[in-house]
Amino acid sequence: MTLIQNTLPQTRHLATTIPGPASTALHREREAHVTSGFGVTLPVFINRAEGGILEDVDGNRIIDLAAGIAVTSVGATNTHVQAQVALQMSKFTHTCFMVTEYDSFTKVAAWLNTHTPGDFDKRTALFSTGAEAVENAVKIARVATGRERVLVFDDAYHGRSLLTMAMTAKVNPYKKDFGPFPPEVFRAPTATRLWAHRDGETTTATALAGVERLLVENGPETFAAMVIEPIQGEGGFLMPAPGFLAGLRELATKYGIVFVVDEIQAGLGRTGKLFASEYEGIAGDITLTAKALAGGLPLSAVTGRTEIMNAVHKGGLGGTYAGNPVACAAALGVFEAFEDGTLLENARAIEATVRETLEPLVDGTSVIAEFRGRGAMLALEFTDKLTLETRADLAAEVAAKCHSQGVLVLVCGTYGNVIRLLPPLVIGQELLRDGLAVLRDAIIAVDAAQKDPAQKTELKLPAGNHSGATSLTAV
Ligand SMILES: *Cc1c(COP(=O)(O)O)cnc(C)c1O
Repeated sequence: MTLIQNTLPQTRHLATTIPGPASTALHREREAHVTSGFGVTLPVFINRAEGGILEDVDGNRIIDLAAGIAVTSVGATNTHVQAQVALQMSKFTHTCFMVTEYDSFTKVAAWLNTHTPGDFDKRTALFSTGAEAVENAVKIARVATGRERVLVFDDAYHGRSLLTMAMTAKVNPYKKDFGPFPPEVFRAPTATRLWAHRDGETTTATALAGVERLLVENGPETFAAMVIEPIQGEGGFLMPAPGFLAGLRELATKYGIVFVVDEIQAGLGRTGKLFASEYEGIAGDITLTAKALAGGLPLSAVTGRTEIMNAVHKGGLGGTYAGNPVACAAALGVFEAFEDGTLLENARAIEATVRETLEPLVDGTSVIAEFRGRGAMLALEFTDKLTLETRADLAAEVAAKCHSQGVLVLVCGTYGNVIRLLPPLVIGQELLRDGLAVLRDAIIAVDAAQKDPAQKTELKLPAGNHSGATSLTAV
């Protein structure tokens, strides 16, 4: 069963240069009214979106390999979501769940309690944004444990609110000049970065020993929560080394710390299973979801062990829009869309196609150090394999080439040197292959220009050296 009505042709089409004149005019207007504090990856204004295509106001049809940062996994015009939202809109838009109740909130909670990892009794709290879910997980863990401290990890991203900025690793742009931050947030090393080039077991054991030392040195009985992403998103699509998350799970249990798995980017089918935790054989005491949860409407969730979730005093949790009924209806549509398993199969088929097209670039070029990720959450790291220099400049140059040819890709990574792919799970294979060919050709061209500087293009962006690169053995 296909979930999308293909009224928007599922082909790439360049009607103008990108951005075209209509987008450029609208962007000028934006600059006159909108704070310059918001950046933009590709300054085109979208008219319609469907399947794997974003159509802009100039009539360009752009291949969407971003899904609004892993949000529109079921498609931006999913019929299940549309039907549920339309029905709810015809009834009421808001009551505030803390004032009077509605059943869709309960239904979303029940689905999450059943489907999140962990074979134990659970309860769920709904909010609006991912950062809010993270903040509330910390609030709940503090009450449940009577402790204050929070352990987070290198390369972590947990949001832009004050506490979640403190939990996020990268300073620029997320934290720069926004402090002071809340205290009692500690950061531990991980076993992720380019672990495949090293002995995985040694990497895992060394990192876990480092985490335990940090806990012991600071008093493990002072830590309320340990928070980690099962695949680190903004930090660079970093995969945990085998056994690392299971080892963290054991440490959390050993010291009575609430283990919080932030599935906000990797969850809800993105990796080919409903939750990325499933690949690691772990379950958080608390699992966080947001992004793809409501197909583009703002909704986030904290799902955890009943005894932890119910430790909070009555009235201690909430928010005016927390679990808004229209967003809950959208989530019920998303759950329907996942019901027959097709979307999870699509995520795995996307991985097979991307792997086939892009993985050969690791050996075939001098600039791609690693291809990594799972399902429809895949990335290429630009690091020179001989000098071990991270190459944010090349990632930016390749992304710009893709954008000019109508393929939307995103850059991420602590060092800004990773191109990540997050297509909607409903993208057609033919369209995906077209987008990947554009990306592959851009990388090959940039690699060739490196080897023959005469071909080098104009774009010059700062490249960063970093100590992390020393963990990469030349291949
Ligand atoms: C996006 C994201 C968040 C923050 O979600 P917002 O809705 O932007 O507040 C938190 N954690 C992870 C892993 C994310 O990817």
